[in-house]
Amino acid sequence: MKNACAIVSSPSKMHKIAEQWTLTKQTIGVVATMGCLHEGHLSLIKEARKRTQKVVVSIFVNPLQFGQNEDLNTYPKPFERDLELCRKAGVDVIFNPEAADFYPRSFQTSIDGGLLAKRYCGRSRPGHFNGALTVVHILFELIKPTLAFFGEKDFQQSFLIKQMCRDLWLPAEIVTMPIIREANGLAMSSRNTYLSPEQKEMAAVIFQAILSVQNAVKNGYTKTGELLALTASLINHSPGMQLDYAHFVDLKTLLPLGDNINTSARFLLAAYIGDNPRVRLIDNGHISV
Ligand code: AMP
Repeated sequence: MKNACAIVSSPSKMHKIAEQWTLTKQTIGVVATMGCLHEGHLSLIKEARKRTQKVVVSIFVNPLQFGQNEDLNTYPKPFERDLELCRKAGVDVIFNPEAADFYPRSFQTSIDGGLLAKRYCGRSRPGHFNGALTVVHILFELIKPTLAFFGEKDFQQSFLIKQMCRDLWLPAEIVTMPIIREANGLAMSSRNTYLSPEQKEMAAVIFQAILSVQNAVKNGYTKTGELLALTASLINHSPGMQLDYAHFVDLKTLLPLGDNINTSARFLLAAYIGDNPRVRLIDNGHISV
């Protein structure tokens, strides 16, 4: 399907368009991205296309969610390709603001995700989730989505977004979609473009670690310490790779489980690969008992 896909960069114009849709009682789906779209993003866009009358894809490399030594300035921006993918997917509006318009110089306010935003990825990336929540909150206020679509790949992020919506009574319903993977199991990510073909093969060990842990639990091994040691050993023995963290977390609270897996949980992990650039990859999987 091809359609006219409008490109809107002005926040106030985006607001006006969405307001008009709301006034005419059209349902709105939002997919928030940083661009460099891949099948993971497209799965969210397709779901939005199915479930809402109007679909907005935001493409915005949000400076607030990057740390000082991170890849803000090198983040890939293949805008023409993204536009073509959005056109083919039947997106109504690409919202592609400039940072200076989105965050005017007088900008002061931010959303704080609390203690959970400081754990796991938040520990390695201080301030990251508060930046991500702030941009999502602004997008929700500008566009007033009926449904907003997020990937389980960023499990902690979608948990914190649901927490924000609950705490602040935001009306958007959050829909989460499964992780889309490369053929070798590596979770798709815009940051995979930083990897060489060899590194992409090597990085599949992250998914293999998740599978090993899922199998071990299925076979009755439930000691979190041993399973985390197995994960660290698998990843740290892969050349050029280093585990950042691995945790089993409770599905309802996102808090770490104790010594034993006694309830269904999520296994979250992050690992570094390479030196120049040093790329951080995240993944997760469901653990059923
Ligand atoms: P990003 O552009 O990386 O900020 O991601 C935008 C949205 O796409 C987020 O909700 C991500 O969780 C989601 N996403 C990214 N990669 C994947 C993937 N491999 N599978 C499913 N969703 C994904």
